[in-house]
Amino acid sequence: MAAGLVYADGHVHSNPVSGLGAEEIGKRFASAGGWFMALVILPPWHYGISPRGLDDYKRAVEVFLSECRRLRQHVPRVACFAGFHPAEVDKLTAKGMKLEDALQLGLQVVDYAAGLCRDGVLDGIGEVGRQHYKTTPERLAAATSIMVRALEHARDHGCILHLHLENAGRATVDTVEVLRAAIGAPRGRILFHHASSKVAARAAELGYPATVPGKREQLLAALDAAGPSFIPESDYIDDPRRPCVSSCPWEMVERQRSLLEEGLVDEETLYRINVDNVVKLYGVEPP
Ligand SMILES: [Zn+2]
Ligand SMILES: [Zn+2]
Repeated sequence: MAAGLVYADGHVHSNPVSGLGAEEIGKRFASAGGWFMALVILPPWHYGISPRGLDDYKRAVEVFLSECRRLRQHVPRVACFAGFHPAEVDKLTAKGMKLEDALQLGLQVVDYAAGLCRDGVLDGIGEVGRQHYKTTPERLAAATSIMVRALEHARDHGCILHLHLENAGRATVDTVEVLRAAIGAPRGRILFHHASSKVAARAAELGYPATVPGKREQLLAALDAAGPSFIPESDYIDDPRRPCVSSCPWEMVERQRSLLEEGLVDEETLYRINVDNVVKLYGVEPP
């Protein structure tokens, strides 16, 4: 049963230095029934690069793009995202960089990613957004500024954005909505990643895409609150010290199969979240 169903991972990372790397991840996911992955860059440290300036980020993007190429050899459809994670503001300043310099660097990185997106090398910018943990107001403001720049690129170059945000329900979505409206970026290309059921529900109400962690309870809660409006994500970070810390992509597939077998979801719903929503957001051919 459901042998014909295929599965998407709406937000995943790979680490070719200390993890499995894209090739192995792609093989495992495809053989579990995966057809689509949105691969998102990790901060440069994960690739063994200690960033001090834009050139170091460009090197990290090179590593990332070769991971994208490897993933494409195994997974039928792949979308690729590079950006500046809000946690990078904290990490750079903790290592002694001035806040102002970390902000400028973040803006440069996002501008660089936007150029690659305009040229068709990347599908969009991600992750950018706000810290989901306690930080200083100044660092939060810097991360928000970087997200604003990314929203401008979504407007000007049609880049898709993966937003990493706190999960504060409506407040999370509505504050982005105010920024987006002021900037004039298209809602349909701005994705709320790691969305709680409340965030996913509000995002769906306003017409934003979202990805929801592919855990059993979170998927069921999101389906209940938001209907089949989102894409499941593993947010796998490919760290051997924390294996499957969010989910492993292939585990996420198994969980959805179990939900189907238990009668908690139907095939139609799984098709909507794993295929229809991907086709709509990324404009890719269905499998
Ligand atoms: Zn994230
Ligand atoms: Zn992520």
